[in-house]
Amino acid sequence: MTTLPVIAVVIPCYNEAEALPVSAARIRGILMSLADSGEISNDSYILCVDDGSGDGTWGVIEKLAADGEHIAVRGIALAHNRGHQYALLAGLNEAALTCDAAVSIDADLQDDPEAIVEMIRRFREGDEIVYGVRASRDTDTHFKRNTARAFYKLQNMMGLETVYDHADYRLMSRRALEILGQYREHNLFLRGIIPQIGLSHSIVTYDRGTRVAGESKYPLRKMLSFSIDGITSFSARPMRWIFGTGLSLLVIDVLISIYVLVALISGTAVSGWSSLMLSVWFLGSLILIAIGIVGEYIGKIFIEVKDRPRYNISKRAGY
Ligand code: UDP
Ligand code: MG
Repeated sequence: MTTLPVIAVVIPCYNEAEALPVSAARIRGILMSLADSGEISNDSYILCVDDGSGDGTWGVIEKLAADGEHIAVRGIALAHNRGHQYALLAGLNEAALTCDAAVSIDADLQDDPEAIVEMIRRFREGDEIVYGVRASRDTDTHFKRNTARAFYKLQNMMGLETVYDHADYRLMSRRALEILGQYREHNLFLRGIIPQIGLSHSIVTYDRGTRVAGESKYPLRKMLSFSIDGITSFSARPMRWIFGTGLSLLVIDVLISIYVLVALISGTAVSGWSSLMLSVWFLGSLILIAIGIVGEYIGKIFIEVKDRPRYNISKRAGY
């Protein structure tokens, strides 16, 4: 790299008026020292995305943007609250126009901002995507830790490729950002999409802390619906399981039929029982198979409707 890279740090903010002044100052300090030591361009900046906050977050952003420090703070505000994933996407799309790489980080500094230094080093060595991965979850409650683990397992079982213990703290090169821009789906689950982009990547580990200020905007209810979104936006596997269950029931149906016929012939069956048993099992498995087949088609439609890019080119030679 001949010129120094312009780094954008994108911070989605929802009601973070308390935390943002602290976190922006901390992140700015890190960017300033990287710029001073000649590792990143002085044009690097922080981009705060106000996700329809109602607590004066925008005022905080405007104040930061106007303070004239040599690492600029910029802001964009969404017209209303759209959720963390959309706020982040808005920021990344915006940053893709003017940066060489963007780091996304939450406003609460739960993700150690010092890891940005290592992410940028990896980027300068040629990695296009650098995932921040938690080294430990000591500061999470026992409950949050275990439910999170269970969801990773469930998602992997469902065929969703994610990076273990990675939230949305990561660096993406401009090229990765441009490819991300081609994923046009509305049910956003960035953690699932970004591994699909491919490109050279690596992992930086850090310790996860507690919030600097304010409280979590992700109660269990939102976490649950987020995980279900993750699975259903990526995998048609649950439908295939219905089909599989139908087939297995058909096999069991054969065994039950033999049992029922033996009972009928040996005269131990109550009248009417045999025909009911046979039809309940047979029809039950037929219905599940039929739903499974319909599901296969819906699965195909689901993939087509997403209209994701069919491939991403990682290298070219002879140009
Ligand atoms: N956030 C957002 N929109 C929302 C909810 C959250 O932009 O609707 C931001 C929030 O300001 C923070 C990040 O997403 O920067 C992560 O949220 P939080 O720290 O509350 O989640 P947790 O770490 O508890 O899972
Ligand atoms: Mg947090």
